[in-house]
Amino acid sequence: MMSPKERKKYNADYYKRNRKLRKQISKSWKEKSGYYKKMNEQRKADRKAIFSVLGGKCVNPFNLPHPDWCNDKRCLQIDHVNGNGPKDRKKYKEKYGMFAYYTYILNKIKDGSKEYQLLCANCNWIKRFVQKEHRVHVKQPIFKTKSEKLQEITEK
Ligand SMILES: [Zn+2]
Repeated sequence: MMSPKERKKYNADYYKRNRKLRKQISKSWKEKSGYYKKMNEQRKADRKAIFSVLGGKCVNPFNLPHPDWCNDKRCLQIDHVNGNGPKDRKKYKEKYGMFAYYTYILNKIKDGSKEYQLLCANCNWIKRFVQKEHRVHVKQPIFKTKSEKLQEITEK
């Protein structure tokens, strides 16, 4: 007989082992059936479609000179107008996984969303610094109540 503690550990180990195995089985099935390939093709097609609905070139928010090479699709990036990218991606990934993210964006744009725009890599980096978006991924302290937040502010 196992003690309750041993039993608990055994169960946890079993679950872990099993989870790995389940993942392996599902992965190999996906490889065999061409699931990954299909998804990657879907991703590429969606990305292309997003680029074309968004105008196919940088929206040039800072009025910089944009020679043709700036609008090479290899340096264009889909940008969140209000800088919610990391949050949006995280939320989406938790819910659906990463493969259909472009489909999700494309559908949103088709439904009239104005949340996305195309930026060239230059403008995107400038925007990040101007709007301090490069700090978005830094974890913000979570305040439970309004008074906690107030306390934090007044302490500073
Ligand atoms: Zn640009």
